[in-house]
Amino acid sequence: MGFSTDAIHAGNAPEPRTGAVSVPIFQTSTYAQPELGKSSGFEYARTHNPTRFALEENIAVLEKGVKGYAFSSGMAAISAILSLVKQGEHVVASHNMYGGTYRLFEYVLKNYGLTFTYGDTSDTASVERALTPQTRLLFVETPTNPMMVLSDLKALGELCRSRGVWLAVDNTFMTPYYQRPLELGAHLVTHSTTKYLNGHSDMIGGLVVTSEKDLAEKLGFIQNAVGAVPGPMDCFLALRGIKTLAVRMDRHSLNGARVADFLKSHPKVKKLYYPGLSDHPQHDLARRQMSGFGGMMAIDTGSLEAGRTLLNRVRLFTLAESLGGVESLISHPASMTHALVPREERIKWGFTDGLVRLSVGIEDVEDLVADLDQALSGV
Ligand SMILES: *Cc1c(COP(=O)(O)O)cnc(C)c1O
Repeated sequence: MGFSTDAIHAGNAPEPRTGAVSVPIFQTSTYAQPELGKSSGFEYARTHNPTRFALEENIAVLEKGVKGYAFSSGMAAISAILSLVKQGEHVVASHNMYGGTYRLFEYVLKNYGLTFTYGDTSDTASVERALTPQTRLLFVETPTNPMMVLSDLKALGELCRSRGVWLAVDNTFMTPYYQRPLELGAHLVTHSTTKYLNGHSDMIGGLVVTSEKDLAEKLGFIQNAVGAVPGPMDCFLALRGIKTLAVRMDRHSLNGARVADFLKSHPKVKKLYYPGLSDHPQHDLARRQMSGFGGMMAIDTGSLEAGRTLLNRVRLFTLAESLGGVESLISHPASMTHALVPREERIKWGFTDGLVRLSVGIEDVEDLVADLDQALSGV
């Protein structure tokens, strides 16, 4: 089946009792057992919930994996992946990724005896050098948040498979509509469902899909044992969002390309980071491993003051954390999503105080361009 057909139908079969076409919200904590020792297959809702199962089946099909698992947030999903790693084992990760991921690794998991090396995962040779006999996991975000740096998933997949290391990819920015890491060799793919998959900025959730049967079993055990499961209402909202993922992503990309085109020649914009631009350093790789470029981009305004002026002057773009919703958002990663990343670290990657991140929504694009135009005129 094609992507949109799967997005709408996978996991979304009509409910057997009533024929409800939309998967119902099974708002229950437990299930009646017909007699002692007999079960309907549904016992307790941390373990079993039909609305959650529908979402898990849906994302497994879209990401071309063997099994999907839903979590209460993107961070809970990433945390489940890291729970596969044991004390004394080593993890290599992209050096500029979502700030909350860095926070989880550095400020929580280090206390449990996991060790981390951050590197430029866009350079496969340097990743290879970072691998040690203790390395269990390579965790990559591509494109990265907020610098829009890509990693070569096919090359990293081959490297990991030859070295017995799991490759996990945070696919939040691209979604399976534009990029399917498992097909390129990754073992695990994760999402903040909160972003493009839901697409309407009305829930928090996370997902993990794996291509490996043994990892699927372990993840299912972790999901139930730790218990960071999403409620059925949030699963319903994610399922509903995913049904329109393809049409939304197409529009995000069209609008993204138009906004990038406007920003790239604007005198107040010192630098624009968008993989869809032919002068993005990894544009060729972007064309190879992604089938679209989406609506995420970052600009360097040159200074904190210039960035502040832009952020305070926009009217249609909303100053807020998060991304991937139908409405356009704008943010200042250095003080918002990435406040815990040390300044001297991020400056090395070009992640300056004047960096502004845009999540281009699906409004009429000329209105978005006009808003940026008036806001930049005050910078
Ligand atoms: C938002 C985000 C996360 C964390 O997801 P939550 O749902 O906020 O917990 C992880 N990775 C990326 C790339 C994100 O943008």
